[in-house]
Amino acid sequence: MAIERTLSIIKPDATERNLTGKINAMFEETGLRIIAQRRIRLSREQAESFYEVHNERSFFNELVDYMISGPIVAQVLEGSDAVAAHRKIMGATNPAQADVGTVRKEFALNVQENSVHGSDSAENAAKEISFFFSDADIVG
Ligand code: GDP
Repeated sequence: MAIERTLSIIKPDATERNLTGKINAMFEETGLRIIAQRRIRLSREQAESFYEVHNERSFFNELVDYMISGPIVAQVLEGSDAVAAHRKIMGATNPAQADVGTVRKEFALNVQENSVHGSDSAENAAKEISFFFSDADIVG
């Protein structure tokens, strides 16, 4: 399988509960490697831009309010089949439907405050990585 990179975000509900290390341990245990990392607070404009694809959805404003409610940790993960491997360990969007052993089953509060974001395709991963990081920030 190809070595890929994907964009991971530890969301505000998880940074608030001091879960960054526990969540990253789960990623590392599946063979993903953190090769770039920034703890930041998104502006409203940045959050709207990052989630632009959802701007017609009923929950868009609520999602943006949540994503700017506290710090996030944006990171690049690298590994074999990283996009799919990361989505698998994250679990389903709604923690009620997430498999046992996934981050969202373990830690998510509800369908919105679901602790983590992960790119859903290699194409989106490239776009989302460049949203937060320049090439010089990424040390593989
Ligand atoms: P993901 O790829 O699993 O993160 O899911 P989506 O791309 O469908 O949605 C993006 C984010 O929007 C999710 O991770 C949630 O934080 C939020 N979200 C998704 N569905 C809902 C919903 O029905 N209600 C609310 N309030 N937020 C949602």
